[in-house]
Amino acid sequence: GGSGAAYQVEPAASLAVEAAGGESPTARDKVKIGFSMDTLLEERWLKDRELFKAAVEALGAEVDIMAANGDDALQIAQAETLISRGIDLLVIVPHNAEAMASIVQKAHLAGIKVLAYDRLVRNANVDMYVSFDNEQVGELQAKAITKLVPRGKYVYIGGADTDNNAHLLKKGVFNVLQPLIDSGDITIVYDQWTKNWEPANALENIQAALEANDNDIDAVIAANDATADAVIEALAAQGLAGKVPVAGQDADLKAAQRIVEGTQTLTVYKPIQSLAQAAAELAVKLATDGAVTANRTISNGKARVPSLLLAPIAVDRTSIDETVIADGFHSREDVYQNV
Ligand code: BGC
Repeated sequence: GGSGAAYQVEPAASLAVEAAGGESPTARDKVKIGFSMDTLLEERWLKDRELFKAAVEALGAEVDIMAANGDDALQIAQAETLISRGIDLLVIVPHNAEAMASIVQKAHLAGIKVLAYDRLVRNANVDMYVSFDNEQVGELQAKAITKLVPRGKYVYIGGADTDNNAHLLKKGVFNVLQPLIDSGDITIVYDQWTKNWEPANALENIQAALEANDNDIDAVIAANDATADAVIEALAAQGLAGKVPVAGQDADLKAAQRIVEGTQTLTVYKPIQSLAQAAAELAVKLATDGAVTANRTISNGKARVPSLLLAPIAVDRTSIDETVIADGFHSREDVYQNV
């Protein structure tokens, strides 16, 4: 935690890339970014794709995007394809933090720098990481929920343990909960990862949590809104929706609707436009002169990766109008359509 001193990344060595056979030099004048995404099967990543593409193009560069929909082998193959197409820089949202390390090495062998987007690649010499402060996301969730429920039985529904963010989120949550656990005010009655972030797995977890505790739980912190959706479905089936506070993150439309309806307490809003814009600027700079500024370093098991972390925003029903709606992230009509 805490903001460190500004960190100046070493200027890049020459990143001249051989033009592919037959390509005219003018065609190579445009900086070409490769964007390897985990998935497009969840709401937020569709925004990331659109906004990143628009931001890169506004900078006069171009982007080649591939998404693997949760398949590690496919994501590796796609990243190899991007490298072989002569990109100048690779941006990765890894499905599996460890599995993509081999791609960082391959990119470097081809003289291509790597920017980790939203999720860090572990155990690799990633050149730069841009994301929201995921530890702070967890802290914001736990602060809001402990304010409402200072004592009681807590359930933690984690993210995918193959995603470094899931670990950062959990760390943030427990930064806040641990003193209350130590004082005996709070008990953790259930704590599990959600394999692949899949809501169906989160549903099984929350059902197990309810069963093991005879429905006697006081609060749920879920690692994102898709898992919170499953939690609230299970609570509703027991007549508990709206009675047990639930936190998520992403400001997904359904979550925003649940917040104004009263079945979800909190989401953490991460303005994707800011992330996409920051990432596009970093990508183009790293691909050309290489002079970029980080505000933090995050260790990934191998290196202390220069990182730019943006601030997440806690949102409940009292603040949703001035944040998510004021930004145009969702329209007022859409958010309030059921109330
Ligand atoms: C992202 C979240 C997202 C989750 C599942 C995390 O790495 O930070 O915004 O909900 O992955 O896709």
